Amino acid sequence: MLSDADLLDTPLDDLTALARVVRDGAHGRRVTYSPKVFIPLTMLCRDKCGYCTFAKAPARVTAPYLLPEEVLAIAEAGKAAGCHEALFTLGERPELRYPVAAEWLAAQGYASTVDYLAAMCRLVAEETGLLPHANAGALDATELATLRPVAASQGMMLESLAEDLDAHRGSPDKEPARRLATLEFAGELAIPFTTGILVGIGDTRADQLAALRAIAAAHARHGHVQEVIVQNFLPKAGTAMFRAEPCAPEDLQWAIAAARLVLPPEIHVQAPPNLSDELAPLLRAGIDDWGGVSPVTADHVNPERAWPALDVLREATEAAGHTLAPRLTIYPTFAHDPQRWLDPALRFGVMDASDAEGLARDSSWCSGGEEPPPPLLEGTSPWRAAAGGVATATVDTGRGAVAEVLAGVALGQEVGEAEIVTLFSARGPEVRMVAEVADDLRRQVVGDDVTFVRNRNINYTNVCTFKCRFCAFSKGPLSLNLRGAPYLLELDEITRRVVEAVDEGATEVCLQGGIHPNFDGDYYLHVLEAVRAGSTDIHIHGFTALEVTEGARRSEVPLAEYLTRLKEAGLKTLPGTAAEILDDEIRALICPDKINTEEWLEAHRTAHSVGLRSNITIMFGSVEQPVSWARHMVRTRDLQRETGGFTEFVPLPFVHMATPIYLQKKARRGPTFRETVLMHSVARIAYSGDIDNIQVSWVKLGAEGARQLLRAGANDLGGTLMDENISRAAGAQHGQRMGVEELEAIVAPLGRPLVQRSTLYALAGAGASAGA
Ligand code: SF4
Repeated sequence: MLSDADLLDTPLDDLTALARVVRDGAHGRRVTYSPKVFIPLTMLCRDKCGYCTFAKAPARVTAPYLLPEEVLAIAEAGKAAGCHEALFTLGERPELRYPVAAEWLAAQGYASTVDYLAAMCRLVAEETGLLPHANAGALDATELATLRPVAASQGMMLESLAEDLDAHRGSPDKEPARRLATLEFAGELAIPFTTGILVGIGDTRADQLAALRAIAAAHARHGHVQEVIVQNFLPKAGTAMFRAEPCAPEDLQWAIAAARLVLPPEIHVQAPPNLSDELAPLLRAGIDDWGGVSPVTADHVNPERAWPALDVLREATEAAGHTLAPRLTIYPTFAHDPQRWLDPALRFGVMDASDAEGLARDSSWCSGGEEPPPPLLEGTSPWRAAAGGVATATVDTGRGAVAEVLAGVALGQEVGEAEIVTLFSARGPEVRMVAEVADDLRRQVVGDDVTFVRNRNINYTNVCTFKCRFCAFSKGPLSLNLRGAPYLLELDEITRRVVEAVDEGATEVCLQGGIHPNFDGDYYLHVLEAVRAGSTDIHIHGFTALEVTEGARRSEVPLAEYLTRLKEAGLKTLPGTAAEILDDEIRALICPDKINTEEWLEAHRTAHSVGLRSNITIMFGSVEQPVSWARHMVRTRDLQRETGGFTEFVPLPFVHMATPIYLQKKARRGPTFRETVLMHSVARIAYSGDIDNIQVSWVKLGAEGARQLLRAGANDLGGTLMDENISRAAGAQHGQRMGVEELEAIVAPLGRPLVQRSTLYALAGAGASAGA
């Protein structure tokens, strides 16, 4: 670690270069911001800081505090504009200076400003789902504890530890010891905390280093400092420091670089983008966060400096070779450890607003819902544009880890678990780049055909003894109060449905159902007989790894023998469902009584060994992180290399609406659309050379979503699916069947042919596709 003398003596360019190395090593090229709404709860303050325009005298405000309905109106506007955070800004302890404040609080039944703040945080969290961040200044432990159950994070600028600054004259709350005590209490209470320094208020560089080292020491004791804001002083009209010199840009850059080098690398370093004319130097100095950016409210602390529009911020960030990502008020490391860092009352709110990385969901789209997906793949990525629209080998590896992995892919290198996780971290133009590489691979491997199979789902029962927590389809025998009644189809009805499917041109039936308590192993053989009574030709795609494992167990025969019996009775292929996520840590949360990862793999290994083929599914977006997706891909790829028995990979985005695990507030609301695009693109890359077909589930994604994914590495639209029941039970709105004309409508704008296939990807004759 550099000493203070080193930091003070090193030329600025060298210092910022070192800071960039540390920043890039810890946070890569990603720069975050928090889409937030500012709620100035009170502009009264007992302090008299010489630089402040936020605090006003009672005569200059219409009321001492915002009313609850005013607070809510601001929060709701923020929610409607896509914010996740409600930042409460307020003066410190105004009731101790102004009788009007004390009287207002007493009349409303509040003991203090902090007491009222806690009530308003709770109101906003409960009514809007926004996550409050309380920025209430120097508080004691009891006050911080009062706010902890209602604020996902809290903050207080340390500003400076220099004693006797003119800027802080008449400000009892700016006494360094009090602010250090607040920082310490917050750590003891496990509060995810924001702090920072104010540069240029009469402090020296040595003062700044002292403050940064104090923050680092508190963090070393408690691990609670999420981010440190390095804010530059700017003189403002109407303040005591109006004639003071502003913080020079190079002084701000020095302080940012010093913060990056003094603080532990995991602490995020932020500089407000609205307080500098140029953003690139801040990035060059080592920041990885822009702080709160509000689409609806002004910066009440610096009202003369408007926020840059998000597009401007994104452009500036990307022009400097970074990507921009929205975050929550609580950073991912903290969000992923809720037992330690969050009051139980806030845990679901954080999860509900999160994506798989613990950052903020970037749109209100969710799988199965009616809202169209955001257009993520429009235009060409900057890399490809620079390369004249061609050649993945021209990926500029100076642009970060995602580009580096893609450059390796272009050279034919295999992606392992770590590289797959990196690809899933793609944001902004990186997403387009990953999709472009996947689309190239798709074209090379399977050409432009978009395939589909005419099929019918037959879900013979929804009664199930298992308790998969993501499953809205199954019913216990007596759970009539859940959506839909328990049923068990008669075998004659199965035959009738097969006949009907054949009449409609289906070439496949897909058989899946719950694990009925009355089934014995012979039940599945009877189902196969019933299908063959309806058609001896139709391809029978049926029975998950769980069903065949249970069937063998209930028949008391080895799995290979049982699968051979099924094959002899007409079974051809197994669906990959029941795979969910092939990572036992996650299975323990979402399907604890189901077969485990090894049992799923073994069922498919055995099926392949007796001459059956199967596919791989992944149900993603409930509780897991990208590393579990990577493990899933690597494990199934390994098995494919062993057996060659998988025909396709089918990503199934979690449809959350009616699932028990979401209703119990224990899961996210499915993947984001960015994650959905990446799942298809990364799969195309990861399975390259091993599995040729990547399928899109129109049931969960709708027509527009499916169309985008066909530009991101996918080549297959799955089945026409007369009678889709399972996603619908979970709340999906995209219908129960898809006619060929509707499939044509998805594909036509892409200028690619729609071609009917068999289950095993034999294509219908040339031109025989769509209408055949
Ligand atoms: S996913 Fe399958 S095994 Fe699990 S509860 Fe639903 S029907 Fe039963």
